[in-house]
Amino acid sequence: MAVRYSSLNYKDGLALAGKNKVVRRYPMVPGVDLVGEVLEDAVGFEKGQTVLCTGFGLGEKHFGGFSQRARLKPEWLVPLPDGMSPHTAMVIGTAGLTAMLCVMALEEAGVTPERGPVIVSGASGGVGSLAVALLGRQGFEITAVTGKPESHDRLRALGATAFRSRDEAGAESKPLESRTWGGAVDTVGGPILARILAETDQGGAVAACGNAGSMGLSTTVLPFILRAVRLQGVESVICPVERRRVAWDRLARELPDDALEKVAHEASLADVPDLADAIRHGRVEGRVVVDPNA
Ligand code: NDP
Repeated sequence: MAVRYSSLNYKDGLALAGKNKVVRRYPMVPGVDLVGEVLEDAVGFEKGQTVLCTGFGLGEKHFGGFSQRARLKPEWLVPLPDGMSPHTAMVIGTAGLTAMLCVMALEEAGVTPERGPVIVSGASGGVGSLAVALLGRQGFEITAVTGKPESHDRLRALGATAFRSRDEAGAESKPLESRTWGGAVDTVGGPILARILAETDQGGAVAACGNAGSMGLSTTVLPFILRAVRLQGVESVICPVERRRVAWDRLARELPDDALEKVAHEASLADVPDLADAIRHGRVEGRVVVDPNA
């Protein structure tokens, strides 16, 4: 494939810093996302077709998107959805796919706006801000947890209706707190996830996809056995391609263009090392599209 764009994800930040054993072998080309043009016919795809690939070990076990060329297995590819530009596909990237998989997990658990407000942690980040945009479009009342007060206006424009600081969200919680949330998308783990679970209302669900704050989780069984709270893990790396296609088609329809513009930033390969450091330290807002040809 000729790579048109890649993007920067939290995992790329870890890979570039040699952290968490993200890179399984060296040499490695990082970049867990890419979109571009098929250069050689492959089963199910034609030369010239624009396709995208996220996860499946790109940038970990297989050479990834921070490159002008990539060789990929056809079964990893998703055709670019109708009406979506390659640039938009990378504004969305793994972060947007994961946000949509979280929204789908909440829907499958019966979470609707009528069940009460939802909370999204790591809200100014890639997964968080796109989850706010998707849930906002569905009419949810959304509390955004963020460590960046300067991102409030942007998050409000995406659909957030209230805010909590990271400190408040991660304050030590009792096993059960006031029933507050019908559902949640958690991208940070640790005490913030523990408090969300303790505050989730009867029959509510929490989609947990990340560990930007902590890998730990110290909780009790009470939210599960007294309030029938569901903790649903979400992963996007080996997610079956049929579910990905559903998610990407929904992303094409449900993410408003103005929301995507609000979260997008541009970078070249030369910018990536500094940005990788910034994303690891929670300093990147929204989504960074990487142009390996710039
Ligand atoms: P980003 O860096 O874009 O966003 C993470 C956000 O988390 C930051 O912007 C910040 O938001 C918040 N944050 C950072 N550090 C801390 C901290 N110490 N405590 C609490 N909050 C913190 O990353 P992504 O959105 O790309 O990814 C988010 C998480 O989801 C990562 O852990 C990533 O590995 C995971 N992930 C998992 C996937 C899966 O398949 N399961 C796929 C994609 C991502 P703020 O300043 O607003 O608080």
